[in-house]
Amino acid sequence: MINLILFGPPGSGKGTQAKNLVRRYELLHISTGDLFRYEMGNDTPLGLKAKSYIEKGQLVPDEVTIGMLKNKVDANPKVKGYIFDGFPRTVPQAEALDKLLKGKGQEVTALLALDVDDEEIVTRLLERGKTSGRKDDSNESTIRNRIEVYKSETTPVFDYYAKSDKSQMIKGLGLIPTIAKRLYRVIDKLK
Ligand code: AMP
Repeated sequence: MINLILFGPPGSGKGTQAKNLVRRYELLHISTGDLFRYEMGNDTPLGLKAKSYIEKGQLVPDEVTIGMLKNKVDANPKVKGYIFDGFPRTVPQAEALDKLLKGKGQEVTALLALDVDDEEIVTRLLERGKTSGRKDDSNESTIRNRIEVYKSETTPVFDYYAKSDKSQMIKGLGLIPTIAKRLYRVIDKLK
C-alpha cells in the first residue's frame, strides 16, 4: 500500500495533481475540503458546523475534521492506498492519521509538498473564485487569512514528517503536466 499526503498551501494545485495521481497509481483520493463542501451542500449538521469556519478561512476544529476523515477511511478499506489532500493540516491531525493507519498495519509513505509563493496563490485563487462558486476563494482578505493559517498551523506538519524523512518539497510552478512528472519521479521511487 502507498499512502501519500499531498501538501501545500491553498491553491497550490493539490486537487488538480491528485486527479492525475489517482489515475496513475489507482489510489483513493480523500480531500477534506471536498468532503466539507459536500456536507455543506446537503445542509447536514456537520456541514452547518463547518460552514462558519470555512467561510472565514479558518480551520474546522480538529475533532470534527478527524472524525469525518476516519469515517471516510474506514468506509473504504479495500484500496491500494490513499491520497490525502488538505489533511492533515495540524500536528494533532497528523498524529491522529498515524494512529489510524497504524491500527490497520499501515503508515504514511510520504508527504509531498507543492511549493508556490504567496502572490501566485492569491492570483490563482481569485481566478478560481470566478467560476468555483466558493466564497472562500472570492475575497482577497479571506484568501490571505487562509495563507496565514497555513503558515502558522499547517507548515509544522511538514516538519513533523520530516523527522522520519518522509517530507519532500516539489516545485509547484509550471505547467500542470510538468508538475505531474515531478511528482511521478518521486512516487515511482517510493514503490
Ligand atoms: P480546501 O478545499 O482544502 O482548501 O479546504 C477548504 C476549507 O475547508 C479550509 O479553508 C478549511 O476551512 C476547511 N478544511 C479543509 N480541510 C481541513 C482540515 N484538514 N482541517 C481543518 N479544516 C479543514
